[in-house]
Amino acid sequence: MSDAAHLSSVSVVIPIFNEAQNLPALLQCTDAACRQLGLCYEIILVDDGSRDGSTALLRAAAQAPGSRFVAVLLNRNYGQHPAILAGFSQARGEVIITLDADLQSPPEEIPRMVSIACEGYDIVGAIRANRRDGWPRQLASCAQNRLIHHVTGKSTADYGCVLRAYRRPIVTALLQSRESGIVPILANRLTERITDIEISHAPRKQGMSHFRTLYGLYRLYDLAATLMTAPLSVIGGLIALAGFCMGMGMLLLRGLLGQVWAGDGVFTLFAFLFTFIGAQLMALLGEYLGRIYQTLRARPAAVIQQVIGASPADRDEFMP
Ligand code: UDP
Ligand code: MG
Repeated sequence: MSDAAHLSSVSVVIPIFNEAQNLPALLQCTDAACRQLGLCYEIILVDDGSRDGSTALLRAAAQAPGSRFVAVLLNRNYGQHPAILAGFSQARGEVIITLDADLQSPPEEIPRMVSIACEGYDIVGAIRANRRDGWPRQLASCAQNRLIHHVTGKSTADYGCVLRAYRRPIVTALLQSRESGIVPILANRLTERITDIEISHAPRKQGMSHFRTLYGLYRLYDLAATLMTAPLSVIGGLIALAGFCMGMGMLLLRGLLGQVWAGDGVFTLFAFLFTFIGAQLMALLGEYLGRIYQTLRARPAAVIQQVIGASPADRDEFMP
């Protein structure tokens, strides 16, 4: 892996879904931040099936003469993380930055993230100081972060913040694995060299968080279920243990209070049966088999319909 002296190129990947109102400021701020790097850079704008005119703005930005923008148009809406993975597949930089389009996390932090990555970290995460989301969202994030810490044992404190820097080998490994899920979590499993910086967090500049809709809530559930697949075996084990204790308790009470108690052992049988069936259904059939099936189908995270912008020849300089 090259160090700071050898670093020559940076890619910024931004997932975009109905952000037309935010785009002018986003493109301007991100480009200005990247110029300060004094390195080769490209800004990959992934249009995740927008329906509000964002696509036309992205096309225009990518087609402007001398533009550093590359528009990657997906054929439908897939969600924030599949869109980021699609952007990764087009990114050529040695350091790859991910950023949200709503300007909640400041693009001005890009140079700082790149220089910290160059100190020898594979991943630089950001912790949102003074987080500016509603309390239900903050509560959900807090629970999710704790769960992730527990499952992955990794130290990044704020997995929900997409402003992050990744070194090239991490992105290559992510693309090879074809695993789907939350990008920061998938990536954190691939290295120990992770650090966090504190950034300021602003309220959304324009529009509404996409996670406020019913579909957005379903997406949040789906992400949580992805996380839960590992601990489900633990949960299943705990339920089975509870069933065993219940059965033992009933056996004991039967010994103390006589045969008539607990319906001649029928309740004990039910205690065991329900618990084991429940645990198996939840842990094995519900999640594991479903997710193994998804993985076996090996579908791409998202289908790219068109890439507009820098020609392949121009982009050779981004080859690490
Ligand atoms: N986004 C996306 N596809 C979606 C939903 C969101 O690409 O289906 C993008 C969105 O345009 C933004 C980022 O993901 O750049 C984060 O979305 P949002 O601000 O709604 O999420 P929050 O900040 O509330 O977590
Ligand atoms: Mg946001």
